[in-house]
Amino acid sequence: MNIIWHMIRTLSLETKDLVGEKVKLQGWVDSKRDHGKVTFIDLRDYKGKIQVVGYKKLSDLRIESVIEVVGTVKQRSKQYTNPSLPTGEVEVEVDSYKLLNDCQELPITLDGDGLDINEVPRLQYRYLDLRRSRLQKNLRMRSVVIQAFRENLFEKDFCEIETPLLTKSTKEGARDFLVPSRFQPGKFYALPQSPQQYKQLLMTAGFEKYFQVAKCVRDEDLRADRGFEFTQLDLEMSFVTQTEVMKIVEEIVVRAVKTAGGSLVEGKFPVFSYQDAIKKYGQDKFDLRTKEQKQKGLLAFAWVVDFPFFKQVDRKDAAETRDSKSNWTFTHNPFSTPQPKFIKDHLAGRNIAKIKTAQYDLVCNGYEIGGGSIRAHEPDLLKATFKIMGYSDEEIQDNIGHMLQAFELGTPPHGGIALGLDRLVMLLAGENSLKETIAFPMSSTGRTAVMNAPNKVDIKQLAELGLKTIDQSENSVHDQILNKLHQNEISFQYLVHEPVISSEQAAKVRGTKLSSSAKALVLQADDEFILLVVAGDRTLNLDKIQIETKAARVAMASKKSVLNKINLEVGAIPPLGSVIGLKTYLDKSLEAEEKIVFSAARKDRSIIMDTVDFIRLENPVIKDFS
Ligand code: ASP
Repeated sequence: MNIIWHMIRTLSLETKDLVGEKVKLQGWVDSKRDHGKVTFIDLRDYKGKIQVVGYKKLSDLRIESVIEVVGTVKQRSKQYTNPSLPTGEVEVEVDSYKLLNDCQELPITLDGDGLDINEVPRLQYRYLDLRRSRLQKNLRMRSVVIQAFRENLFEKDFCEIETPLLTKSTKEGARDFLVPSRFQPGKFYALPQSPQQYKQLLMTAGFEKYFQVAKCVRDEDLRADRGFEFTQLDLEMSFVTQTEVMKIVEEIVVRAVKTAGGSLVEGKFPVFSYQDAIKKYGQDKFDLRTKEQKQKGLLAFAWVVDFPFFKQVDRKDAAETRDSKSNWTFTHNPFSTPQPKFIKDHLAGRNIAKIKTAQYDLVCNGYEIGGGSIRAHEPDLLKATFKIMGYSDEEIQDNIGHMLQAFELGTPPHGGIALGLDRLVMLLAGENSLKETIAFPMSSTGRTAVMNAPNKVDIKQLAELGLKTIDQSENSVHDQILNKLHQNEISFQYLVHEPVISSEQAAKVRGTKLSSSAKALVLQADDEFILLVVAGDRTLNLDKIQIETKAARVAMASKKSVLNKINLEVGAIPPLGSVIGLKTYLDKSLEAEEKIVFSAARKDRSIIMDTVDFIRLENPVIKDFS
């Protein structure tokens, strides 16, 4: 009997050609049907599933546990074949089996596509979530796409080169993630927003054709489907024209899409000028598909070119405001070259709004899939870009002096592009969220999957880095609210917006109804502070709350006493008294709303959640207080 365990493992899919043979299978219990004397299990491995039959065996096994089975492959009789399984004509009759790892009760269900499960548990148990066939398919498709890119680029003589993760800021229009240095306390590295500068320096170094599957990190405002990291296929070439880069990119994209089983609208990718795109579609990312092509799930790619180089700084955008020191900032990439006919103006800083860049964006089905440009490879041109953005000579040296120097030491003309891998795979897989194509994506509130970062670190560790955190009390209530929601596995929507003071203003910027806004008021009932929550469109009735609290006197707490008591400004008070140490009273009208919307202890952050979850979490006194 012992000898059997030394047999080589057979994969589920291979069993179909092994009728009559003795095999050893290893895998997960995908499903189980117990009929008393006989138990059926579908055993799953990375290749598929196979039915395993145990006579007076297997019934003790639990779903999703890991097992090893030794048995004989048998042909199923005609009436019992399962045409939906590639192994459906055979089954394995068990001689012996053993449990390799048990599976306790599953914290999330794994049958179905998982789209109806909250993000919080799905990401907490991502290693389970990933077992579902939809995600297995998506991630394997991602791997196929990467392989197709690699193979094609190698054929085209590209060289794959890695660039550093700990580096200096490279401007891509977002905030940087900073990493403190232990050797030089008080100084910081930046994580790359892209390998832009290094790949250009590889051109100076004579590699001529570079590519990398690159992780980029940008501290941007989160959206439902986007985290702080993403992956791009990054490439750069020397001695190329814009048309040549676009042609090569077309070839590799078409091949990758086809290899991954996708279909696209045949023919060359159409090219639109930015101006025409705006005129025709109202934006620079558009969907070219006809209704029929949409139904067929085709991908329709197009190029957009002739972008303006500069735009006015949007003061609401922190990174844009910081990157520019004048009123001008780049639309795409500060390292691009202006188109030849605008070079004179560019160098002179004249007619800035009219200068066009040699930038090309690739769009597909309404999304921007990639972007690149021919670069400025002469120091004067690059310097002029930063001059237009208001940088002094000293600031220019400080920021890009190393590039300017390389541009004086034999840098060939060059250009390149980056393609967003997550997004391309999302479209190929027919998914609606980038997260469905990433193994361990971040939550919509910036938490990492499974491991739950960011988290606090030891004070000693901070000291070693020369760092001290300031306790921003306004933020800490905000963090406590998020923590509480996470801990209770409540799903919610998190909004970042301009600061607001009144409920009316808030409802407007959030785009939500006033009647579902939770206005939180701090009251003083005799000596006690309490929190009363009414809908944004209601007024509070103090008499009713007085009856409820049996206080002799009830009044709105003064601004000063609110600040003293809970250290929050009026306008930022959350309806969660439990977080700020106050008892909560909720007006009945809000109970009737499906969603409750409120400021998350910051004037510029809001939360939308199900009212039932809110009530379960906070357990307020609910009565008619308006
Ligand atoms: N660095 C640019 C980006 O990440 C792409 C490029 O121009 O190559 O968007």
